[in-house]
Amino acid sequence: MGASHKIDGLTPAEACRRQVEMAAEHMDIEDWVVERLLVTNREVTVNIPVKMDNGELKIFKGYRVQHCDVRGPYKGGIRYHPDADLDEVRALAMLMTWKSAVVNIPFGGAKGGVQCNPKEMSEAELEAMTRRFTWDISSVIGPARDIPAPDVYTNPQVMAWIMDTYSIIMGQTEAGVVTGKPLELGGSLGRFEATGKGVYITALQAAEHLGIPVEGMRVAIQGCGNVGGVAARFFERAGCKVIALSDSGGAVYNSGGLDVESVLACKNQYACVMGPKVEGEDISNEELLELDCEVLAPSALGGVITHDNAAKLGAKIIAEGANAPTTPQADEILHDRGVFMVPDILANAGGVTVSYFEWVQNLQNLLWSEDEISQRLNHILKHAFNEVLAIAQEKKVDMRTAALNLGVSRAARALKLRGIYP
Ligand code: NAD
Repeated sequence: MGASHKIDGLTPAEACRRQVEMAAEHMDIEDWVVERLLVTNREVTVNIPVKMDNGELKIFKGYRVQHCDVRGPYKGGIRYHPDADLDEVRALAMLMTWKSAVVNIPFGGAKGGVQCNPKEMSEAELEAMTRRFTWDISSVIGPARDIPAPDVYTNPQVMAWIMDTYSIIMGQTEAGVVTGKPLELGGSLGRFEATGKGVYITALQAAEHLGIPVEGMRVAIQGCGNVGGVAARFFERAGCKVIALSDSGGAVYNSGGLDVESVLACKNQYACVMGPKVEGEDISNEELLELDCEVLAPSALGGVITHDNAAKLGAKIIAEGANAPTTPQADEILHDRGVFMVPDILANAGGVTVSYFEWVQNLQNLLWSEDEISQRLNHILKHAFNEVLAIAQEKKVDMRTAALNLGVSRAARALKLRGIYP
């Protein structure tokens, strides 16, 4: 378990590089710049020893990959998952560089991962693993260097342990070393909701562009964690029908619209989306992706929309809450079918945007109100959406190629201005 398998013939990092190469065909960009941006700056692999509750020692593989910092400190989440490996973390780090650039936030791109199954670990084991991992990567992270955040199966508590451990190493509290912290420790209002809210904001922009009314708009969401669960709440509140939601165990479907709160409460109580108080039928995660709907928001893991199912998808808009859910082959099929794509580096950029707000507040020791954060987030995402759409229309390319055009060209300009040392 753990080695990145190929989907549609490519590993995650190969797929990310392929996307950039394809976007570069529509850009005025020198070969050396592309060559530089296609490789990561630093890849740290550590073996994390943890004394488990039963007294045995277990060693976990941990990674922190720093792709590019020409536009600002490295930034990107840490994932705890049995399949996390270097190739996948490399791909996710690269996406972070383009994402920060698409929303014009002065950060670079990084990502971290620990190959573990947090569902089978106690709180004490998770804490020990997190603290030792932090110690192992402490020389390469920091508020001015590289700032981790939550990702799959990590949360504000994990960020609190990272912040505390790093602060102990430095001899002073360093709130700005991570974002997505609990509010009590310098977390930002609106950070927990930011990514899911961003998926909602950008999907609505797409619907408006296509002339699809929001009221009654059918939305299917894969995953109901920080991204999927929060997005579902926003869609429902706006009058959309959330017709399907899922977790790793399967999906629940109701063509008339689910009661989102009862699904999330069920997930909370029974660790599954289908329970006694949920009105809907069991379907599989694969069936969810193919549902007839206006918006599909894959918001769990990568590589789920492939050459095999792209032709069967029933959505008009795909808003990628997850990172890299669509393979390059599937992208071509969807584009040919006229499906409107809101790519990951735009759709889920609300997270890095409010992470930036959190970091700025930490560095300045001040607090912004929820309203201020909400307004700034709205403004940044709508502006980025319109910039990407304008490029797509001007160059007659799909939205992913347009978003990559924007992100890669901003990183490229910074790289050229800084030059190559020595
Ligand atoms: P999370 O741990 O909060 O939730 C993950 C969800 O995915 C859970 O509901 C889980 O049950 C579900 N899931 C796991 N395996 C699955 C499977 N095989 N099939 C279907 N569902 C499955 O994680 P998250 O923070 O919500 O992250 C979800 C995605 O969004 C990831 O791709 C992540 O990289 C991306 N993302 C997260 C953030 C953020 O701020 N948290 C920001 C940008 C992108």
